[in-house]
Amino acid sequence: MRRTCKVKGMVKVSYENVLREPTMAANRKIEDLINQRNKIDRELRVMQSECNHIEQTIKQVTLGQGCQTSTRWVCCECAAVIGYPSGYELNKFFKK
Ligand SMILES: [Zn+2]
Repeated sequence: MRRTCKVKGMVKVSYENVLREPTMAANRKIEDLINQRNKIDRELRVMQSECNHIEQTIKQVTLGQGCQTSTRWVCCECAAVIGYPSGYELNKFFKK
Protein backbone atom coordinates (compact mmCIF):
# COMPACT_ATOMS: atom_id res chain seq x y z
CA MET A 1 0.00 0.00 0.00
CA ARG A 2 2.72 2.43 1.06
CA ARG A 3 4.79 1.46 -1.97
CA THR A 4 1.93 2.30 -4.36
CA CYS A 5 1.60 5.79 -2.86
CA LYS A 6 5.31 6.43 -3.32
CA VAL A 7 5.21 5.44 -7.01
CA LYS A 8 2.16 7.64 -7.56
CA GLY A 9 3.99 10.59 -5.99
CA MET A 10 6.98 10.11 -8.28
CA VAL A 11 4.79 10.07 -11.38
CA LYS A 12 3.18 13.32 -10.32
CA VAL A 13 6.53 15.03 -9.78
CA SER A 14 7.89 14.05 -13.19
CA TYR A 15 4.64 15.22 -14.85
CA GLU A 16 4.98 18.64 -13.23
CA ASN A 17 8.59 18.84 -14.37
CA VAL A 18 7.49 18.31 -17.95
CA LEU A 19 4.91 21.08 -17.67
CA ARG A 20 7.44 23.53 -16.24
CA GLU A 21 10.11 22.75 -18.80
CA PRO A 22 10.88 25.96 -20.69
CA THR A 23 10.42 25.95 -24.45
CA MET A 24 13.63 25.83 -26.45
CA ALA A 25 12.78 28.39 -29.13
CA ALA A 26 15.06 31.42 -29.09
CA ASN A 27 12.63 33.33 -31.26
CA ARG A 28 10.24 35.15 -28.91
CA LYS A 29 7.33 35.10 -31.37
CA ILE A 30 7.72 31.34 -31.91
CA GLU A 31 7.98 30.66 -28.20
CA ASP A 32 4.85 32.73 -27.70
CA LEU A 33 3.02 30.74 -30.38
CA ILE A 34 4.17 27.43 -28.86
CA ASN A 35 2.91 28.58 -25.46
CA GLN A 36 -0.43 29.59 -26.96
CA ARG A 37 -0.71 26.26 -28.75
CA ASN A 38 0.03 24.36 -25.52
CA LYS A 39 -2.63 26.39 -23.75
CA ILE A 40 -5.16 25.70 -26.51
CA ASP A 41 -4.25 21.98 -26.52
CA ARG A 42 -4.81 21.81 -22.77
CA GLU A 43 -8.16 23.58 -23.06
CA LEU A 44 -9.22 21.27 -25.90
CA ARG A 45 -8.23 18.17 -23.91
CA VAL A 46 -10.25 19.36 -20.91
CA MET A 47 -13.33 20.12 -23.04
CA GLN A 48 -13.04 16.83 -24.93
CA SER A 49 -12.61 14.87 -21.71
CA GLU A 50 -15.81 16.45 -20.36
CA CYS A 51 -17.79 15.66 -23.53
CA ASN A 52 -19.96 12.53 -23.61
CA HIS A 53 -19.41 12.04 -27.39
CA ILE A 54 -23.09 11.29 -27.93
CA GLU A 55 -23.18 12.11 -31.64
CA GLN A 56 -20.40 10.51 -33.66
CA THR A 57 -19.63 10.43 -37.35
CA ILE A 58 -17.02 8.83 -39.61
CA LYS A 59 -14.64 11.48 -40.94
CA GLN A 60 -11.30 11.86 -42.67
CA VAL A 61 -8.88 13.24 -40.09
CA THR A 62 -5.38 14.63 -40.56
CA LEU A 63 -2.68 12.78 -38.65
CA GLY A 64 0.32 14.72 -37.40
CA GLN A 65 1.70 17.67 -39.34
CA GLY A 66 1.82 16.02 -42.76
CA CYS A 67 -1.06 15.78 -45.18
CA GLN A 68 -1.65 12.11 -44.34
CA THR A 69 -5.31 11.50 -43.62
CA SER A 70 -7.10 8.58 -42.08
CA THR A 71 -10.70 7.56 -41.51
CA ARG A 72 -11.91 7.59 -37.91
CA TRP A 73 -15.01 7.89 -35.76
CA VAL A 74 -15.09 11.54 -34.65
CA CYS A 75 -17.36 13.24 -32.10
CA CYS A 76 -19.63 15.83 -33.77
CA GLU A 77 -19.68 17.97 -30.65
CA CYS A 78 -16.00 18.23 -29.68
CA ALA A 79 -14.13 16.81 -32.72
CA ALA A 80 -12.36 14.22 -30.57
CA VAL A 81 -11.16 11.12 -32.41
CA ILE A 82 -13.07 8.24 -30.82
CA GLY A 83 -11.80 5.19 -32.65
CA TYR A 84 -11.37 3.12 -35.79
CA PRO A 85 -14.36 2.23 -37.96
CA SER A 86 -14.79 -1.45 -38.79
CA GLY A 87 -14.33 -2.75 -42.34
CA TYR A 88 -18.10 -2.80 -42.81
CA GLU A 89 -18.44 0.79 -41.59
CA LEU A 90 -15.61 1.92 -43.87
CA ASN A 91 -17.30 0.36 -46.90
CA LYS A 92 -20.53 2.13 -46.07
CA PHE A 93 -18.67 5.43 -45.62
CA PHE A 94 -16.83 5.28 -48.95
CA LYS A 95 -19.91 4.17 -50.92
CA LYS A 96 -21.91 7.18 -49.75
ZN1 LIG B 1 -17.23 14.70 -27.81
